[in-house]
Amino acid sequence: MKALKRLAVLLCTLAVAANAQAKKPVSNVIIPQPVEIQMLAGSCRADAVPVVNIVEDFEYGAEGYVLEITSRGIKITAGTAAGEFYARQSLEQLRYGAKRIPAQRIIDYPRLPWRGVLLDVSRHFRSKEFVKKQLLAMAAFKINRFHFHLVDGAGWRIQLDKYPLLTQISAWRPAEYYYDWLEKENHTYCTRNREGVYGGYYTKDDLREIVAFADSLHITVIPEIEMFGHSTEVMAVYPQLGCRGSEFVIDDKGRVEQGKAVYCLGKEASFEFLQDVIDEVLEIFPSEYIHIGGDEANKRHWKACPDCQRRIADLGLKDEDELQSYGIARMEKYINGKGRKIIGWDEILEGGLAPNAAVMSWRGEEGGRAAAASGHKVVMTPEEWCYIDRCQGNPEVDSVGFHGLLSIEKMYSYDPAPADMPGREYVMGVQANLWTEMVMRDNHCEHMLYPRIFAIAEIGWTPQESRDYLKFEPRAIELSNRLRSAGYSVYDMSARDWPR
Ligand SMILES: [Zn+2]
Repeated sequence: MKALKRLAVLLCTLAVAANAQAKKPVSNVIIPQPVEIQMLAGSCRADAVPVVNIVEDFEYGAEGYVLEITSRGIKITAGTAAGEFYARQSLEQLRYGAKRIPAQRIIDYPRLPWRGVLLDVSRHFRSKEFVKKQLLAMAAFKINRFHFHLVDGAGWRIQLDKYPLLTQISAWRPAEYYYDWLEKENHTYCTRNREGVYGGYYTKDDLREIVAFADSLHITVIPEIEMFGHSTEVMAVYPQLGCRGSEFVIDDKGRVEQGKAVYCLGKEASFEFLQDVIDEVLEIFPSEYIHIGGDEANKRHWKACPDCQRRIADLGLKDEDELQSYGIARMEKYINGKGRKIIGWDEILEGGLAPNAAVMSWRGEEGGRAAAASGHKVVMTPEEWCYIDRCQGNPEVDSVGFHGLLSIEKMYSYDPAPADMPGREYVMGVQANLWTEMVMRDNHCEHMLYPRIFAIAEIGWTPQESRDYLKFEPRAIELSNRLRSAGYSVYDMSARDWPR
């Protein structure tokens, strides 16, 4: 039955691809929708080579551009290489499959500077080649931040010189599917040579290659190093960094509690380890922001730990929330001292926000709103609109996903910085997050990304007043077809297999 379903999906995909090639391309299918398009008389050969003019103090900003297509040729004006790059992305979408392009003048620039996608490579690992393939597609839609969730309880994915056990053991596990591993293998790690082993990691050279490739596409890679929770894989090999009495965290079913092992904040060794990790991370990733996680730390271990309690008493802290704040502020100071900034999940607000920290609001919008109102920069990524680990179609026919439904239409309806929001000028951007607990295969991963990241691209780029789902939908269907023809696995949003 499963094989038949797969075949049906394959045939359907081929039919759509064939249809897309036969059909006349839809004109003006740019995603994200540009700020202004003035149609002019005449047309231009689609294969004309653009003349590029980079000007100082360009009026449409660092990522903005003017793209002029007339019967005389194609001209790009921009202030930077990024602006020129985005003009070329728009031009590629206009010229796709066409012999001539209608004459027009496009003036374009983004609404928000951070248009991001998170990929979790801890729960299920992805090859370097797969990551680069996705960066290529993201750039075509003017996504400019790639949030790389590199470490978590399910596997450490970044090679470090100082702590080799993280990739000798914590990157490998005895079951491929994440939930099989939790349930049948009791959340244990193994070495690479064990039979049936699953896992992987990126060498420093792999990561430098990914960073350089992303940079050529004007995408900044934001590495995430989880602290102080979601660190079971660290505690498994360096248990001395955990709290006394909770080195191995067992839940009421006798399993190791997923993602809840925490660093002990009473021990200097935890900070020394994390600072060493950050030192090596900073050498690989040149991003302004380093994501320090900060979510879902299980504070009951701090409550029961004599070392953590001693730290609380010595510093006169009120509780474990303030202990977490102390830890984050200390790591912030270290990272700021290296000329970088931190961003963390909205739990870092608990117990008081570190002075220069930016917040990624995921448990709803409240955290982001509170941080923005107090003058901290935020990236909005609330679960309800931005978590693309959810299904997007009828679960009867769509592949598995988490926590119900997130259709592209629902996603598109999101406004990260509404006009009445206090501190809206602190909203840096918007981001879609793909957690991969249930996403084992590469084609499933792409199916979750596309076409939904089109919505994030347009939310982050296009002025709110110009956005209209009914106009977006046909463009998104057309660009889905093109992406499918280019070898990506794309969810068929035209299937209408679910009440919308
Ligand atoms: Zn402790």
